[in-house]
Amino acid sequence: MTSLSHPAGALAPIPLYLEQLHQRLATELSGRLPDYIPELAKADPAWFGIVLATVDGQVYEVGDSRQPFTIQSISKPLVYGVALEDAGPERVHATVGVEPSGEAFNSISLEPGSGRPLNPMINAGAIATAALVGGADAAARLARVTAALSAYAGRPLEIDDAVFHSERSTGHRNRAIGHLLRSFGILGADPEPTLDLYFQQCSLRVDAHALALMAATLANGGINPLTSARAVHGDLVGPILSVMTTCGVYDFTGAWVYRVGLPAKSGVGGGIMAVLPGQLGIGVFSPLLDERGNSVRGVKVCEALSRDLGLHFLRPPRLVASTVRSRYTLAQMRSKRQRSAPELQLLQQHGHTAAVFELQGDLRFATLEPVLREVQATAGTLALVLLDFKRVTGIDAAATRLLAALVNHCAGQGQQVVLSRVRRHELLADFHAEVQPQHHGAVVFQPQLDLGLEWCERQLLQRHALGPPAAALDTLAQHPLCAGASAADLAWLAQQAPLGHWEPGALVLERGDPADCLYLLLRGEVSVVIHLPPGGARRLATLSAGMVFGEAALLEGGQRSADVRADTPVVCAVLPLAALRQAEAERPALALQLLKGLLRSAAQTTARLTAEIAVLEA
Ligand code: GLN
Repeated sequence: MTSLSHPAGALAPIPLYLEQLHQRLATELSGRLPDYIPELAKADPAWFGIVLATVDGQVYEVGDSRQPFTIQSISKPLVYGVALEDAGPERVHATVGVEPSGEAFNSISLEPGSGRPLNPMINAGAIATAALVGGADAAARLARVTAALSAYAGRPLEIDDAVFHSERSTGHRNRAIGHLLRSFGILGADPEPTLDLYFQQCSLRVDAHALALMAATLANGGINPLTSARAVHGDLVGPILSVMTTCGVYDFTGAWVYRVGLPAKSGVGGGIMAVLPGQLGIGVFSPLLDERGNSVRGVKVCEALSRDLGLHFLRPPRLVASTVRSRYTLAQMRSKRQRSAPELQLLQQHGHTAAVFELQGDLRFATLEPVLREVQATAGTLALVLLDFKRVTGIDAAATRLLAALVNHCAGQGQQVVLSRVRRHELLADFHAEVQPQHHGAVVFQPQLDLGLEWCERQLLQRHALGPPAAALDTLAQHPLCAGASAADLAWLAQQAPLGHWEPGALVLERGDPADCLYLLLRGEVSVVIHLPPGGARRLATLSAGMVFGEAALLEGGQRSADVRADTPVVCAVLPLAALRQAEAERPALALQLLKGLLRSAAQTTARLTAEIAVLEA
């Protein structure tokens, strides 16, 4: 038996709470062992385990959490999911209803006339459901059920043969139900193989730990939080939890929803699993049952957990405060592409017509609706709308349709929409189908926010008739850093600064190199890149012809702080630091001009970073 093996003070809050709950309810000895399946009567009435598993895979367990027992009726909602997958909802609904019976688990609650069992949680419905499991023969169908339930548990489950044979040889009532279903045509063929499958699914061996993970898998949209393997199609989690909510604990369901408020399923093996969608799963095991066949301590544990931890499903947490995590315009934040003076001026002037909305959290009707309002309110002023999805954790079908409607709305008003960092396959399955064909050209996907910003800048520059900057300067004299220098100074400079050539992809300079020269970019483009663990890279700037880099050379004993890589064929005039020093001594006018140019470039970078920080801190 469990005791407080650590001094209370040594336990973290949640384990401590569970220990105390376990200790308090361990003295609860009412209820009886089921004996209608003789093998189940051999259980130790003292067994008691509680396990809580979160959707991110944290497991808290106390007591006999690894004591094996048979799953019994807790298999029913999971096999219902298998039937929905294998036979499709239409056939399943024609075979078994979804109405609570308000009667005991072994009641013979069939719809008058059709003979359809009222729901899949009572035995009649579960037996009818077992008949819908796919597979070529009995062995394949059993393998299908075992594999599905094992995927929920996150480990291979096995049948307890003693319990299976015990129920098979004494299950007269279930056998009668099977034959009754056959007489109504609900079971098409010989009921015996279906009854065998049902007895086998009930005899799968689990423990409270496995139940909690099964529940957490349902809470997690069908994906086991520890193995990350999908146990059931995400669309079927809703139907499964629905029948658990309305029929999961038989004729105790009304009081259960009222007092506990968690979709749940009990079994005569003594287990209960309960699900808080999106948050956690609970598995409890204690074999003493009340007169309805629910674990006495199991019910009490769930009542306590719900009350103490505030888990009732009709008290959902508030949605995140705001789906728009931050908002800014291109006048406030630009891409990492360095701009020429005329470009900068134009972006300053028109940047406010391109807005960025960084979104966060789960997108669904309630969280997306304020975003729609906010974006629509800008209709008159914006030419470009960028929505960034980096921190979006999910998009449901309704939000997908609303997003498409927003795109249609924006495009209809002549706006262009950029969606950056969307995990496209995962999140926006039918987005494209919903965007009207004439608007497809108005939507652009960008893998990075920075590239999205750059795309918007290009649109603005084009809209205002500013063509791309010259890709190449013919001579050093055309470089802005040299503008106005005397012919003699220029000739000297050309001699001091030999031309370097780089192929696309080549490193112009590398982080850690000694910084001993300046680069005047004459042709092509380079990007300044830092490397982020693990294996990622982020561009800090992209420079084009007429710009300079390598100014770290001005710092005494400086080192390169980032890589500079050629994006295209590149030509630079490379001025050694020694030459600059010589100019300072012998050609002060030239030196002053070069230093002023470098300072201007550095000041521009500082201004850009300052604006960026202002936005980030807002
Ligand atoms: N195998 C058991 C039966 O059919 C399952 C019942 C239950 O767990 N409530 O009787």
